[in-house]
Amino acid sequence: MTVIGKEETGQKQKTVVIVGAGPAGLMAAEEICAAGHQVQVYDAKPSACRKFLLAGVGGMNITHSEAYPDFIQRYYDKADWLDTSIRQFDADALQDWIHGLGVETFVGTSGRVFPKDMKAAPLLRHWLKRLRESGVEFHMRHKMTSMKKNHLTFDHNGETVEVQADAVVLAMGGASWPKLGSDGAWLPILAEKGVTVAPLQSANCGFYSHWSEHLQTKFAGSPLKDVAFSFVFANGHVVTKKGECIVTKDGMEGSLIYAFSKYLRDGINAHTHSSLTMDFLPLQSEEQVVKKLRNTKPKESFSKYLKRTLNIGGVKAALLHEAFSKEAFQTPEALAACLKAVPVSFYKTKPIDEVISTAGGVCESSVDARLMLNALPGVFCAGEMLDWEAPTGGYLLTACFATGKMAGRGVCEFLNT
Ligand SMILES: Cc1cc2nc3c(=O)[nH]c(=O)nc-3n(C[C@H](O)[C@H](O)[C@H](O)COP(=O)(O)OP(=O)(O)OC[C@H]3O[C@@H](n4cnc5c(N)ncnc54)[C@H](O)[C@@H]3O)c2cc1C
Repeated sequence: MTVIGKEETGQKQKTVVIVGAGPAGLMAAEEICAAGHQVQVYDAKPSACRKFLLAGVGGMNITHSEAYPDFIQRYYDKADWLDTSIRQFDADALQDWIHGLGVETFVGTSGRVFPKDMKAAPLLRHWLKRLRESGVEFHMRHKMTSMKKNHLTFDHNGETVEVQADAVVLAMGGASWPKLGSDGAWLPILAEKGVTVAPLQSANCGFYSHWSEHLQTKFAGSPLKDVAFSFVFANGHVVTKKGECIVTKDGMEGSLIYAFSKYLRDGINAHTHSSLTMDFLPLQSEEQVVKKLRNTKPKESFSKYLKRTLNIGGVKAALLHEAFSKEAFQTPEALAACLKAVPVSFYKTKPIDEVISTAGGVCESSVDARLMLNALPGVFCAGEMLDWEAPTGGYLLTACFATGKMAGRGVCEFLNT
């Protein structure tokens, strides 16, 4: 067994241990190191920020340019809680920070902000270099297996390593893509210390639906483009978004369905299933659709009629037949109403290990304003392991960086008191 601690190394500064070398942990490390403390970063994997690098594969969307009042509402019912962290390190501050690493950014047409080359690797390379040069030390292949206040136990290639610190930041992520390091194994460790932790659940995810054999065999993998989805809340409030997704053999995947994932998941949790309506002609009013449908030809099949008048065929026609019986299409008015509101029902989220992010984690009630655990003074939490969620669009990383910074500042305050 190896034992590392302040006394053993003879350091005069305070020693802070960060567990988790993702964006949240590294941001905390930077903040604490800048205050002159000795920072030791531990991570289960052989290298840092594996999920961050994966996020960069399809184009690293690091934050969003929309106005702050709209931005903060993306965190749903946790907006007020995260406001404390994000207000002190918002999208503009994050972009300035990125520019400080020598990486340029641009705002896409959607308002999303990306590094100019769309990649995560150059940014990470510059950041790790700066952290190392500032004195942050990295201990990779160290998986935290237990903790007792500020005394942590790691498994390092089968060997037990005990570490003592003056303060600790836990930034071990959620549980999606566990092969990248964040597997949620920290959850029972904290729960048994009296920390209230909400179960980790799929977020920004696809959903399972019961398709007919016909839909499964003929249309699995088909893109569903130029559609709008609407979700109706119990109080009648409606959220509508345009976009596209993919019909899979057992449900739906893709950006448009991900945007509804919190609402659908909450609905499934409460009622075992949850539904959306799909508008296949979002750019046309119902009246315009009726007008086009009145343009009939004698002896034309229904599918040709739909294709000729409204260019509806393929997977859209199949989903229409999936949702309605032919009797529903007797008049142009009735058919137009169906095309503008095709219901689709889902019964389960896609598994947590396949999804972009997780909801759940360390609850707001378990931490103070500086993100220190009430049950474990001197131990702070940051990033996706906290109980918040947000849609894609750069909101996830922004909150990880901002809570990392908040936890880092909290540690510095704690060590100075
Ligand atoms: C495919 C994909 C694409 C994404 N794209 C985007 C995007 O474009 N924009 C965006 O905003 N977000 C995106 N995200 C989400 C974003 O990457 C995460 O929200 C973010 O990385 C979470 O940061 P974190 O620091 O909290 O945790 P993580 O990045 O998960 O880091 C946690 C670290 O803790 C380590 N760890 C875990 N448990 C232990 C343990 N017991 N002991 C030691 N170390 C441990 C892990 O190895 C890991 O290095 C994407 C995610 C995925 C999967």
